[in-house]
Amino acid sequence: MSEIKEFKTESKRLLDLMINSIYTNKEIFLRELISNASDAIDKYHYLSLTDEKLTKEDKYHIFLAYDSKERTFTIEDNGIGMTYDELNEHLGTIAKSGSLEFLNKIQEEKDNKDESENLDIIGQFGVGFYSSFMVANKVVVETKSPYSTKAYRFSSTGTDTYEVEECNKEDHGTKITLFFRENKDEENYDEFLSDWKIKELVKKYSDYVRYPIEMFVSESVQDKDENGKEIEGKYHDETHLEVLNSMIPLWKKNKSDVTKEQLNDFYKQKFQEYEDPSTSLFVNVEGLISYNSLLFIPKKAPYNLYSDKYERGLQLYTKGIFIMDKCKDLIPDYLRFVKGLVDTSDISLNISREMLQQDRQIKKIATSLEKKLLQELERMKNEEFKEYVSFFKEFGVNLKYGIYESYGARKDSLKDLLLYKSLLNEEMITLKQYVENMKEGQEFIYYASNKSKEAVEAMPQLDALKAKGYDVLILTDEIDEFAIEMLGDYNEKKFKSINQGDLDLLNEEEKKKIDALKDEKKPLLDALKEALHGKVSDVKVSTRLVSSPVCLVSGEGMSFEMEKVLKQMPNSSDLKAERILEINPNHNLFKALEKVYETSNEKLKDYASLLLDQALLMEGIMIENPQEFSKKMCDLMILASSSNEEKKDESAID
Ligand code: ADP
Repeated sequence: MSEIKEFKTESKRLLDLMINSIYTNKEIFLRELISNASDAIDKYHYLSLTDEKLTKEDKYHIFLAYDSKERTFTIEDNGIGMTYDELNEHLGTIAKSGSLEFLNKIQEEKDNKDESENLDIIGQFGVGFYSSFMVANKVVVETKSPYSTKAYRFSSTGTDTYEVEECNKEDHGTKITLFFRENKDEENYDEFLSDWKIKELVKKYSDYVRYPIEMFVSESVQDKDENGKEIEGKYHDETHLEVLNSMIPLWKKNKSDVTKEQLNDFYKQKFQEYEDPSTSLFVNVEGLISYNSLLFIPKKAPYNLYSDKYERGLQLYTKGIFIMDKCKDLIPDYLRFVKGLVDTSDISLNISREMLQQDRQIKKIATSLEKKLLQELERMKNEEFKEYVSFFKEFGVNLKYGIYESYGARKDSLKDLLLYKSLLNEEMITLKQYVENMKEGQEFIYYASNKSKEAVEAMPQLDALKAKGYDVLILTDEIDEFAIEMLGDYNEKKFKSINQGDLDLLNEEEKKKIDALKDEKKPLLDALKEALHGKVSDVKVSTRLVSSPVCLVSGEGMSFEMEKVLKQMPNSSDLKAERILEINPNHNLFKALEKVYETSNEKLKDYASLLLDQALLMEGIMIENPQEFSKKMCDLMILASSSNEEKKDESAID
């Protein structure tokens, strides 16, 4: 008895896209089906090692066949198969998060009306089984799980429903039959019904698959006479079973036999990426620990890299047998963007996830891989700086996080990989470059935190440094100041924020001068401090301002940026950076303050409060009472205009 079932909504959308696809790369359907078959065999084999109910197989294989008259193509594996429930769950709904992402992307492209892009994004996601419908108008899946006594047949034309019924199948595994569509205009499906095309596609996409991909291939053979001599011009067809893939996993090959292109293809296929990686690494270690590894750094960060849902980790194999997909113990958290796999003979096959965590071999491999990766980044930085900059823009935050997360333990291995924007350089620079270009007498590495270079350039606190021609690192990532704090110094040069503490820019003579000025203006400064009691810890004459009247700086401890970051955290504490108001003694405003101080204490209070609010706003910190700020501002404007009126009146009398 057969049942008609409905595809889930998302599946319908995806199927609809497949059926109506004008995508040129339809050939990927074969890659997807072979990859599923290979996964299914992996699963069977892995389970058979521990589950005695599963018979051990002598031979795993993926068998391909086609029938050009019927226009069908079949792929058969002796893998894990599917139970009735699995069949519905895996083929009736979208199992893969990648496919959902793909659907959203398509929608996005549609909204952007960028149709041309549509063509190319199917390949990006590896949409799996449903890609069959790009080439077939009917698909039949016959499958048997070793955990089910019955076998089932799924068939569908890819429209709203599919049919499930029992069928005869003795052995575990899955057989999928595609009924190719009719040729239409430029869409030629007949080409898939040929030995050479299938051979070509297997080589191109699935050569590394560990199991033999077999097919009966016919060959034209020259006829022979009774003496065994070849007869000229006479041929007949002979068929023989051929293994189409070389099977040696890429990572088991000789490093020198593997081209960059092969690595890139492997990466795209294995991790369903559509772009080449930014760099790939072939690691082959023999010694106290032995392992082979392929590592890749993507060009772009996945959209969910920083979410809790993102699972970091490398695929783990032992002696070529797949063990698990995301072994997170192989890669530190800060390198979570790295993709790849490790194959080692040093761990046992049925190791549990819990045991892996404590496994010393795994730890050693992880340490060794981390070192190799950092070496590769160093190489990239030195030899391909442009690529390195692109890498850093995408993943630099992670390296900074690595310094922070290790409480500085990793600083020596990471500090030279950091890049920063800076005030005086178009290109990003390393800390080494900064230090090498420090001006004579400059003792510190100065940095400024703000949302962009433009914002930094406008910061009043920069005045004096600009005047001296000092370069300033520009920090725009939230993690930046935390990482800098962990670094502490770079080759004994301490870091200094432009709006924190003292800038230490003055020579002895200048210091004396400013001290004298401080004494002289003490009553005014005290009065301002008194007026801002509880809001700032101090009011000082500034040594960092040149043309701006006022600025806010923080004390030595927490900075304003840190305060902002901490405020965003859940259960944020009420911790605040110490606020110090600095006033430029050479600015006209200072003279105005002195005047007001002499006449009215009330007015001075208003001025003080306005000054502080301005300084806060310039720091991007919300002021406490915007209404009051606005009112005081209005009052001042009215006052200014009426005193202008008075002046006008006076001049009229003259
Ligand atoms: P993916 O393979 O990436 O998960 P697919 O849409 O290709 O996505 O397949 C969905 C699921 O169907 C697979 O995860 C697997 O559980 C099941 N499946 C597909 N092909 C086979 C097969 N040949 N043997 C067993 N299960 C399969």
